[in-house]
This record gives sequence, C-alpha cells and structure tokens, in this order.
Amino acid sequence: MSTVHPDVETVLFSEEEIAAIVKRLGQQISQDYQGKDLVLIAVLRGAVVFMGDLMRAIDVPLSIDFMAVSSYGDKAKSSGIVRIVKDLDMDIKGRDVLIVEDILDSGLTLKYLMKNLSSRHPASIEVATFLWKDIEGKQAAINPKYVGTHCPDAFVVGYGLDFAERYRNLPYVGILKPEVYS
Ligand code: 5GP
Repeated sequence: MSTVHPDVETVLFSEEEIAAIVKRLGQQISQDYQGKDLVLIAVLRGAVVFMGDLMRAIDVPLSIDFMAVSSYGDKAKSSGIVRIVKDLDMDIKGRDVLIVEDILDSGLTLKYLMKNLSSRHPASIEVATFLWKDIEGKQAAINPKYVGTHCPDAFVVGYGLDFAERYRNLPYVGILKPEVYS
C-alpha cells in the first residue's frame, strides 16, 4: 500500500477493500437493471471517484449525468435545504434513475434530491451510496438500496471525499486527524 497521508489518523478502507466493494455493487446493480433504461446520476463533486469506478463495474447499458447542489448553512451539518447549482443535462422521464452518492449521513440532501428528481417522472429512482453512517439510534431520511459499506461516526476523507477541497485524490478512505480541522 502507498504511504498514508500525514493528516490521516486511520485508514478505514484500503484501495483493495474499496475495489472489492465496488465490484460487488456493480454485480448487484447489473443483475437488477437488466433490460432497464439505467441512468446513473452522481452528485458533484464527492461522488465522482465512486461514479468512475462503479460505472465500469456495471455491465448493462447505461448513461451518466451529474448534478451539483449546495447546502445552505453550516457545511459540516446538513440542513436539508438544498440549492441546485448544476442541473441534469438529460431528460430522465421514464428512465431508471440510480443516484450515486459518496456518503450518506442524515440523508437530508438525498431526500431533497429524490423528491426533486421524482417530480420529473422517472420509471424508478434508487440510491447507491458508497458509505453509510448508519449510527445506532440515528435514522437516515432515506433508505438507500445499495450500500457499499458502513462508516463510523467520524469525519472521513479520501476516495472523493474532501475537507476544504483537499484529500479527494487519496485512493483510500481514512479518518482525518481532528487537529487538521479544529
Ligand atoms: P447528509 O445530507 O446525508 O447529512 O450529508 C451528506 C453529505 O455531507 C455528503 O455528500 C458529504 O458531502 C457530507 N459529509 C457527511 N459526512 C462526511 C464525512 O465524514 N466526510 C466528508 N468529507 N463529507 C461528509
């Protein structure tokens, strides 16, 4: 394994573990979407790395599109009030939409997005999240159909996830040292 970034406290998921997770999800999605009209929608920017890997692990025909949203208020805590900064280029009416997300915490961002996308009348709409912070006693606002792996309640970076736009290019997921953001 490559050397760990000095700002990272612990590596949670290595490059090899991530590859195995993505392969499994790709197989599951390929089975479920046979004969469907699949469109993967990634939420910029964090989900880009997962999207790039996941789409190559899926062997049914698909198209891809991107959305960018910005949350109002404190970036560290989701408010659920979301502004669409970049909308889809594609019409999703009658298509089978799979939203590709990097990490699901409260689920409020995705709840908003699902509501918004549902109003455009896709044939179906589901969520694939690479990480899920499904902490005991904490209910997410949505129920993702595809989950890569569960994530402890810590601030994680890498594999697309940033802190102040840094660390997205780390090939693993790790917990950021608290002194970096405090
Ligand atoms: P939710 O609306 O589910 O509470 O928030 C999800 C969004 O919050 C993610 O798409 C991501 O941008 C951000 N987020 C939540 N937890 C983390 C984390 O541990 N690390 C990073 N880098 N972003 C996170």
